Amino acid sequence: MGMLDDLKKQLDIAFQYAQIDSESRERLQYPARTLQVAIPCRHDDGTLHMYKAFRCQYDSTLGPTKGGIRYHLNVCRDEIEALAFLMTFKNACIKTPFGGSKGGVCVDATALTHREYERLSKLYIDAFADFIGPDTDIPAPDMYTNERVMGWMYAEYQQLKGGHPRAVITGKPIALGGIPGRISATGYGGYYVLEQMLSPKYRPFLKIPDKDLKLDQSLLKATFSPINKSPRRDITMAVQGFGNVGYWFAKKCSEKGIRIVAVGDKIDGAFDMNGLDINVCKIARDQGQDWPMGTKISGKELLELDVDILAPAAIENVITSENADKIKAKVIFELANNPTTSEAEKILEERKIPIIPDILCNAGGVVVSYFEWLSNKHAESRTEREVNTSLRKMMQYATQKMMERHLNLNISMRTAAYVLALKRIGDAIQCLGTKHYFSSLNETE
Ligand code: NAD
Repeated sequence: MGMLDDLKKQLDIAFQYAQIDSESRERLQYPARTLQVAIPCRHDDGTLHMYKAFRCQYDSTLGPTKGGIRYHLNVCRDEIEALAFLMTFKNACIKTPFGGSKGGVCVDATALTHREYERLSKLYIDAFADFIGPDTDIPAPDMYTNERVMGWMYAEYQQLKGGHPRAVITGKPIALGGIPGRISATGYGGYYVLEQMLSPKYRPFLKIPDKDLKLDQSLLKATFSPINKSPRRDITMAVQGFGNVGYWFAKKCSEKGIRIVAVGDKIDGAFDMNGLDINVCKIARDQGQDWPMGTKISGKELLELDVDILAPAAIENVITSENADKIKAKVIFELANNPTTSEAEKILEERKIPIIPDILCNAGGVVVSYFEWLSNKHAESRTEREVNTSLRKMMQYATQKMMERHLNLNISMRTAAYVLALKRIGDAIQCLGTKHYFSSLNETE
């Protein structure tokens, strides 16, 4: 089964609880538009390489579509449409005024030179310039794209369209109209959700013995100190993926007193039950060095560690029916998009391991992208503190709304997040009239 079909099962489950007209579900069955192109990109050695590239705008009921652009060898039409579907529900769940989209290029970005990387990024915009726009579809970074790539893409769009249409792309460098706090936004946003879930109000519903999740309030206030000087922490966490999302999330959690016992990337990982110094690990990895501390573990071992919280922050479909019964974590905190397959979710549900869902946990990036888009449109600026304060408010509000539905309707947190989103989209669709209205005999209303 394709990734989109697997995800759409969520739509059917959530529909049973959302109390909206069935036409809304019908409208959300298929992506509104997907454009696929072949990009001819000449490499530095003179050879020509053809790259498949995509942009899908899944649904724009709530506003212009918004979603990242990723460079990865797994990129294909099904993956991009599935991720655009996720963006549609993420934006609705977190209450940004956007629909959902996604783009990508099927390429191993790590094999490109800097010049090839820039050329491919500009060629992507050449191909999609008429498909995107500040009021229609707004790209942002995702896997193997970053603020520099967004800068190249914006420069190319500006070259083609003229003027200063800064709001066409978010996640830009600050000097080109970006916003402070965008780089850390997804990781920090994830932490704000976790902070809320660990509050006395919600902690009992994680079904974790209290002793395992006792967040020491004095540590909550502590700023980061080298691990060997820190007191022993109560909560243990393993983070899969040490890129933009994984690093900033692990860093923030570590600063707030959570013991990060393992981190890993696509090659391998590091494990130390006493905790890892996230900043030291980051510096070493950025310089292409081996993990500077802990014992080396494989990605498979990392996922199966006996920790309180497992945070997949790399790629999709890493928790599957193959390994779901071996997961020892007490809570799964989904920072990557779609890291858990629906079959794995069933197994985890039976094992009473709660999943805090991706469309909530990793929405921090699109929230701060929304602030950037607004600032660009109004030619305003915001400080990093203002950005993080507003981000925290939006993440915590959405967490509360999800938890209300989770508890009142006795449904999983994922279904609760989808119900929240589906209700918002469904209400907007319903305003324009459905069969119930148009087939009414009373036309004189
Ligand atoms: P990134 O490219 O910065 O980092 C990806 C990390 O995952 C790297 O450390 C890489 O080594 C690791 N990785 C790749 N394949 C792996 C594998 N098979 N096993 C283990 N690790 C692997 O990407 P990112 O921006 O941090 O995105 C990570 C995830 O978060 C993706 O699923 C992305 O869609 C999602 N996400 C990102 C953002 C954002 O703002 N960047 C927002 C929402 C969701």
